[in-house]
Amino acid sequence: MNEMVKPAASDDGIVTCDACPVLCRIRAGRTGACDRYGNVNGKLARLDPFVVTQKIAERSGAMVPFAGKDWDGKLVPGAPTFVTGVGAGTTYPDYKPAPFIVASQYDGVDMVTVVTEGIFSYCGVKVKIDTDRYVGPETAAVRVDGEQVGHVTTAEYGSQMLSIGGVRHLTGGSKKEGVVTCETLLKLCSGEAVAMTVDEGEALTVQAGRPPIIAGAREERMRVGCGSATIGIFAKQWFGHVDEVIVVDDHITGVLTEHQAGRFLDMPLAGIRVRGRKSTPGRYFQVAEPGTGWGGTNVKDPLEIVEKIDPKNAKPGLRLLMVSTTGEHAEYFVLDEQLKPQKAPMPAHLRMTVERIGENCEPALSTVLFMAGAGGSLRAGVTENPVRLTRSVKDALTRVTAGGAPVYVWPGGGITYMVDVTTMPAKSFGHVPTPAIVAPIEFTMRRDDYAALGGHVGSIRRIDDVAKADRLQVQKWHAQGPWPGAPLPKTPAE
Ligand code: SF4
Repeated sequence: MNEMVKPAASDDGIVTCDACPVLCRIRAGRTGACDRYGNVNGKLARLDPFVVTQKIAERSGAMVPFAGKDWDGKLVPGAPTFVTGVGAGTTYPDYKPAPFIVASQYDGVDMVTVVTEGIFSYCGVKVKIDTDRYVGPETAAVRVDGEQVGHVTTAEYGSQMLSIGGVRHLTGGSKKEGVVTCETLLKLCSGEAVAMTVDEGEALTVQAGRPPIIAGAREERMRVGCGSATIGIFAKQWFGHVDEVIVVDDHITGVLTEHQAGRFLDMPLAGIRVRGRKSTPGRYFQVAEPGTGWGGTNVKDPLEIVEKIDPKNAKPGLRLLMVSTTGEHAEYFVLDEQLKPQKAPMPAHLRMTVERIGENCEPALSTVLFMAGAGGSLRAGVTENPVRLTRSVKDALTRVTAGGAPVYVWPGGGITYMVDVTTMPAKSFGHVPTPAIVAPIEFTMRRDDYAALGGHVGSIRRIDDVAKADRLQVQKWHAQGPWPGAPLPKTPAE
């Protein structure tokens, strides 16, 4: 199949690329500003591999019609095949049908997949950083090379969150801000590490699927829970081995004998009062400032958070364990005759519980979700009546995927979706200098539904024809999520 796309060269051998608003004029043998298109023998050509994915494996098995030992990287005849948008090309400004509108069959159902590369200026990433360490104040600017590319947003349970990119940083600020934001998004979406700083916060390095580095320290563990949850989980294992446990946490510091878990076990109050604002019995907010010390606080010495020791309840010889929510920090104390806590060797059983806190922590990772709005002119490449595509997605007739990976489509207007970049094929993302991010997107539906929504049925091609593309790259289906070429399950009402 000849994949060269018009326009052809003018007399001076220059071709004008019309795949984005930049309209590069490209000399023979050169590429345009984004390196995605080039002038090949006087014709405009998309240069990167065009990715299709197949259900294949080395040996015969549940998902496999391929029994060969060494797969040669070529298309396997008869194997279920899905044409992704990776390398498919774009049809800016989308008055033309999408680059590939492909017919296939799934379980005897005639399906159509409309494949394109979207150009997104309304896009960004949400970064989840599994750590209880402080990265910076909520809403603080996140910077790369001094340019603001996003901000710290609402923390989640055990994780700090960043919002990076978005149309304001891409196009609403200085040219440099837009360029740096676009580069940052492209790197994060491509699984590369990005160093960034947070105003009044820390230096971070984040990379999709890898542990974050905060203030130069690689994070290992995601906390087992807040201080109160840790008390709830381990109270019974501490009972009888210690007289008080304080779990230091930036969110909720837990105090065992005051906590409902300690009351339930009939533990007598130990009389050790911690600083901060009491929320409910045994649960304290704001025992210290946030930081990179114990439990996401700025505490280096845990006794800093002890406000007073009440002789009414505390007795000489009282045994106290102080521990963080990841088990990385732990100290054991015994009260002396003056009721002063004195460090002591930690008994083996308590050491075991501290290690178990660590064992129950999940590995800390950075997670990158790409988020974009596909509700604009891109839809015209699918149908002459774009709102019908939006309705079809909302009515669960059309499956949206990104490089074959499942996406979450937000309720409400438009087609605003999120996708975990690590589930997408390598090199799925690109950029254009407007600046904007280029990302693959596919819409799959039953063929009759496609006709009903005003689809470009005259442009449908057989999957066998698409498979003849000269820059085709076949990838094995990674088996995460449903097969993207399958129809969405019918609702009970149907
Ligand atoms: S930036 Fe890329 S897509 Fe845009 S016109 Fe230039 S070569 Fe084409």
